[in-house]
Amino acid sequence: MKSAIIYARYSSASQTEQSIEGQLHVCTQYAKANDLIVVDTYIDRATTGTNDNRAAFQQMLKDSGNAAWEVVLVYAIDRFGRNSVEVALNKQRLKTNGKVLISATQRTSDNLDGTKNLDGILLENVYIGIAEYYSAELSQKILRGLRESRRKGQFCGGKIPYGYYVTDKKVQVDEEKAEVVRFIFRQYAAGVYVPKIICKLNEKGLLHNGKPFLPNAIYGILRNERYLGIMRIRDEVYDNIYPQIVDADLYEKVKRKLIKNKIGSRSVKEVYLLRNKVKCGYCGNIISAECGTARNGETIRYYKCLGRKKHHNGCGKHPVRKEALEGLVLDSVIEAMQDEKTMNALIKGLMQMQDANNKEKTTLKLLLKEKKQTQTALDNIVKAIERGIMSDSTNRRLNELEQQARELDEKIAVERNKVAFLLTEDDMRRYYLTALRQEPQLLISTLVKEILLYDDKMVITYNTPLYEGSDDDRGFSFYEKTLFLPCTVPQSGETTLLPIQTVMRV
Ligand SMILES: [Zn+2]
Repeated sequence: MKSAIIYARYSSASQTEQSIEGQLHVCTQYAKANDLIVVDTYIDRATTGTNDNRAAFQQMLKDSGNAAWEVVLVYAIDRFGRNSVEVALNKQRLKTNGKVLISATQRTSDNLDGTKNLDGILLENVYIGIAEYYSAELSQKILRGLRESRRKGQFCGGKIPYGYYVTDKKVQVDEEKAEVVRFIFRQYAAGVYVPKIICKLNEKGLLHNGKPFLPNAIYGILRNERYLGIMRIRDEVYDNIYPQIVDADLYEKVKRKLIKNKIGSRSVKEVYLLRNKVKCGYCGNIISAECGTARNGETIRYYKCLGRKKHHNGCGKHPVRKEALEGLVLDSVIEAMQDEKTMNALIKGLMQMQDANNKEKTTLKLLLKEKKQTQTALDNIVKAIERGIMSDSTNRRLNELEQQARELDEKIAVERNKVAFLLTEDDMRRYYLTALRQEPQLLISTLVKEILLYDDKMVITYNTPLYEGSDDDRGFSFYEKTLFLPCTVPQSGETTLLPIQTVMRV
């Protein structure tokens, strides 16, 4: 006679669900008919099938490590996990602990007497597949149901926007708050700034979810299409769930203003390619990126020495136009990269970096080595057993090694996935020659170390071995290049910068 426990779980995910009591009854009958003594029961009564934590199940798996019982009896195999992978893994854990999984209603891969059941193995997968199918079908049904409810104009959960409330699955307008929403829309449409709108709301003592209105809340309201009476869920549009609070003209006006303000404001960042890279050749101060407005209203962006800013008698370095300076530097970097030797040195450095980054691979090598050693030890034990050397300790060792081998297999699978896709030299070359040119910011931030800027020249220092004839293996060293600039013509403190000639001096 073998001892067994019964595991029962009720999940709403299955269409043909058997109650806990039903499962227990069938399992008990099976135990009686098959000479099993039921010593314990583990029951999960959770009602949701896909995200419950199944405390009793976890406890049962844990207990299987040192409990005396031998068999886990379930009503159906899908009790054992939420998908076939989970079922397989959990079954494997039981097996590791020397326990057998038996279903009272389905043929399983293991028989009670320890023999294998080949058609059971096949069937097991079919049963699990069917359970998965039902679970997926139920999700479909739920989605279909939700869609149907929405079509009927019913509220189906989620956050209710300010100005609405729900009764009997129907969204209703909270007239008092709706008036506040309209007020916000009208104010914004009239050109009142959001902080000012908030002041006005505060003066009226109005709250948003119990707290004073914040800018994000205001923008959230201004952008919420539900106030127009429209709700979008993925590709579906519903106009029958939310009653309209703001009329279409006002909504459109606000929408246009939001877009316009977004383009004109700081939210669209002007990229200064050389930010933090340029220093003044005269005073050593940082040359910072700034922007101003010309008399004709045009925005001018330029780089200006910080030493000039501070005092009247500060640095005399003239500011330079952003576009002109950046263009010069970018041309110089791209030109430097055209040189074959330079490119080779660069690729060499990058390959070295990749190798260093790819040290992860050594973990995999170590694991494979360990697996090999474990396998050898396993083979030796098996040979010993074949020769008749059989004791408690050889048995224990065999179990240990088998467990170890399984754990290693899992770790190896994980590492194999981790090993990054490696770039070849050709890949890198292509990348640098094409993609990086379209991403000047990346190009400059990786390759340019520093730029010393004078009024008549600049000295570019590179991060990489970008010099001709570089054969040494130092990897990353520095290289300088001086570009001579046209004489500056200061006009009301502003300088145009045009390249006349570029001279290279190493
Ligand atoms: Zn300066």
